[in-house]
Amino acid sequence: MQSPSELSDLVRAPCKTCGAQLKFSAEKQKLSCDYCGNTEDILFTKNNLHENPLTFRVEDRQLPNAPTEEKRLFTCQNCGAKTMVNFDAPTISCAFCNSKNVNPDAQKTRLIEPAGLLPFRISKPQALQRFKSWVGDSWLSPSDLSAGAMLDNLHGMYIPFWTFDAQAYSEYSGEAGFYYYVPVQVRDANGKIVTQQQQRVRWEYRRGSHQAFYDDMLEMASRKLSQRESQVQETSRFNLQEVVDYDPRIMLGWEAEVYSIDLAESARKAEAQIRNREENACASQLGGDTQRNLNVDTTLTNQTFKHILLPLWICTYVYNSKQYRFLVNGQTGQIAGERPKSAWKIAMLVGGFLLLILFFYWLGKR
Ligand SMILES: [Zn+2]
Ligand SMILES: [Zn+2]
Repeated sequence: MQSPSELSDLVRAPCKTCGAQLKFSAEKQKLSCDYCGNTEDILFTKNNLHENPLTFRVEDRQLPNAPTEEKRLFTCQNCGAKTMVNFDAPTISCAFCNSKNVNPDAQKTRLIEPAGLLPFRISKPQALQRFKSWVGDSWLSPSDLSAGAMLDNLHGMYIPFWTFDAQAYSEYSGEAGFYYYVPVQVRDANGKIVTQQQQRVRWEYRRGSHQAFYDDMLEMASRKLSQRESQVQETSRFNLQEVVDYDPRIMLGWEAEVYSIDLAESARKAEAQIRNREENACASQLGGDTQRNLNVDTTLTNQTFKHILLPLWICTYVYNSKQYRFLVNGQTGQIAGERPKSAWKIAMLVGGFLLLILFFYWLGKR
């Protein structure tokens, strides 16, 4: 029997003092040793963050994006355990000692490797703090929700994204309608003739153009997270000025994914979004109290893209045997998700509401 091939290129960053694997620290923005506290600077560069022309990529090449089923043997440098892992897993947590490892070869299983990455700024305790104050904001939330148990389920992940740029030029034509009122004589219910103001529309044909540059339209490229699109949207306002060159060492101690939604699919979504925004812009330019026959013709030029990894804290937890999730932006701390609702507090709220109705009923009876 052939022995399984070994994962070879794991990122090594041993501590110069004690030899333990360094991690990227969100607080220090450096590589840091969990054991002796030693830190090592990491040089953030911005040399590879150029935009790539989109047309060439989408039209000329069929993107292989099926997940790689290939397994590799992973030998943990920390505890020596051997496990089989997916070759396209960019980060590997040892199932036995929970050590975190970075496999830079995973990115090479995709046609397009990340150009940049936004380092985590929000640490795990900070993410948890955001969650606590967010839950506390709503008085319906359970006071007994244990944050400690949640620490285990809170994952800091570098999520793959596509960013798109495009110059849009739109020509539109349509009719803007303006309301005016005319007095009309009608018979009322008693057969009496009365004067009523009736609405009419004066239509005016108009045409014009609109143009805008769309910069860094973000499309998330993770199939797993895409079911939570609205939460992702809410937490996806990143300051992309802080994106630096992709360096696998910045992922040390964290988790990451390779993209599972390919460039062509995401480009179509971004384009639809741009066309939609152009249509809205033309409609507001057309003006009027109402509109009809709006026709917008949008041309996109200079379409470019970049592939980057962005930091998100993801948490799934169970409360009252129901599953909830929330996300925290790893740069800004912006949080979105489902808040747990405590059963007895809802019962009190409903009960209080019923009492109020009874009270008004009683008032009315008097
Ligand atoms: Zn050390
Ligand atoms: Zn291990």
